Amino acid sequence: MTLGAYRRKRDFSRTPEPRGGAKSSQGRRFVVQEHAASRLHYDFRLELDGVLKSWAVPKGPSPDPGERRLAVQVEDYPIEYGAFEGTIPKGQYGAGTVGIWDLGAWAPVGDPHEGLKRGHLVFELVGGKLTGRWALVRIRGRADKSGGKNWLLIREGDAPLGQDP
Ligand code: MN
Repeated sequence: MTLGAYRRKRDFSRTPEPRGGAKSSQGRRFVVQEHAASRLHYDFRLELDGVLKSWAVPKGPSPDPGERRLAVQVEDYPIEYGAFEGTIPKGQYGAGTVGIWDLGAWAPVGDPHEGLKRGHLVFELVGGKLTGRWALVRIRGRADKSGGKNWLLIREGDAPLGQDP
C-alpha cells in the first residue's frame, strides 16, 4: 500500500473521507468521481495492487477519440475511496463535494505495471458511461513541465471486428 501521501494531506477527524487500509482486493474496478473543489474536476481511478491509481482530469473524459484530456496523476487513493460520496469540509484538503460520475470494471491491455512505468497504459472500460478502449499517455520532453505527472486520457478508436491486434 502506498497511501502515505494520501493520509498526510488529510485530518480524518475532520473529513468524512475513508482512511483506507481494509483488506486490499485484487479486483479491477474503475471509478470516476466528480469533484466540485475550488475547481471542478473529475478524478479518474483504476484499481491496481490494492490501491486506486488516480488522475485528476480537469475537463473530464471525452468519448471523442480526437479529444485528448489532460490527466494529472495524483497520489494513490485507498480502495474504499471508490465508494465515497460526500462533502469535504471547508479548510480540509480538496474541500467541496464528491459524487460518483461513473464506475465499472477495467481490463489492462498488456502488462499494466509496464504500461505505467513507460507512460503508456492501454485498457478497456466497461462502465455506465465509459466503455471501450482508452489510453493514458504520459507527456514527455519539453512539453512537460510537471515532472512526469501530466498524462493525456484518450479514447482510442475501436478496431473493426476481426482486425483487433
Ligand atoms: Mn479531486
